[in-house]
Amino acid sequence: ATPTAVMVATGVGANNGVLIKGGDALERAQMIKYVIFDKTGTLTQGKATVTTAKIFAAMDRGEFLRLVASAEASSEHPLAKAIVEYARHFHFFDGPSATKDADNNSKDSISGWLFDVSEFSALPGRGIHCFIHGKHVLVGNRKLITESGISIPANVENFLIELEESAKTGILVAYDNNLAGVLGVADPLKREAAVVVEGLGKMGVTTVMVTGDNWRTARAVANEVGIQDVRAEVMPAGKAEVVQSFQKGGELVAMVGDGINDSPALAAADVGMAIGAGTDIAIEAADYVLMRNNLEDVITAIDLSRKTFSRIR
Ligand code: ADP
Ligand code: MG
Repeated sequence: ATPTAVMVATGVGANNGVLIKGGDALERAQMIKYVIFDKTGTLTQGKATVTTAKIFAAMDRGEFLRLVASAEASSEHPLAKAIVEYARHFHFFDGPSATKDADNNSKDSISGWLFDVSEFSALPGRGIHCFIHGKHVLVGNRKLITESGISIPANVENFLIELEESAKTGILVAYDNNLAGVLGVADPLKREAAVVVEGLGKMGVTTVMVTGDNWRTARAVANEVGIQDVRAEVMPAGKAEVVQSFQKGGELVAMVGDGINDSPALAAADVGMAIGAGTDIAIEAADYVLMRNNLEDVITAIDLSRKTFSRIR
């Protein structure tokens, strides 16, 4: 392709909300063999919503939600935000001290309702822990709970499995070394996700999903979207290793992601594509930015490259 053709293609991309950082990135996209998608915020809308909260301890609902929201209040994780929002809604609209009617969707803060928290820390890929009332609080996945030596009773495990098989993420809460409850979080697929996966398949591109979430939820989501190859329970540092494992055969690998966790993988990929609504760190690490947050633009990007660099004229 001539420099003019590259310039034109870059302009066409930009007009469609596909920002391409340089001619090399434009050229590489035509040869992509694998597209590895992050799950949360990339294949899914990234709008996590708590759908259920089941309490297994001697606590009422208000107390349980107050505890969990207090623990998660200083976490930036999308799951944490969903939990805090759920607790906020309960506090203002459903709880015993509800002050608002349901039509008034006010964004009042619950900070005054929350407990004091000490020694908060986030454990990437696992969850968070802190102390409330001098008692240890853990909020996160199975790994977080079991690594702390807290056992998960069979009825809790069964409830988790039920959530996960319906593509939801189960979040466990432990208080004072006992399992206190489980929250179920749903994050719907983007509308175009399945069509894009199918389209890539027709173009001879193999799709893969990588996530820090658990295997059962990951498989359920992958089934819905039509991806066969799933890598789950991948720690943040592991996503780049997944990319590298696909590069071993010398084939070109694209990574599509939105999170801080995805940035090493976006940088490691031959073609890194960041979702425009994603974090700045992901956008910086990527070669392409998909400004419309629409996965169809993965196909647009590959098509544009193929058309620009096609050897057949
Ligand atoms: P992803 O690749 O899906 O973005 P992360 O590595 O951010 O995943 O997190 C992996 C898992 O760790 C989550 O699915 C969740 O179970 C748990 N987790 C991480 N942070 C939190 C948090 N603040 N609260 C509860 N659970 C969390
Ligand atoms: Mg993500």
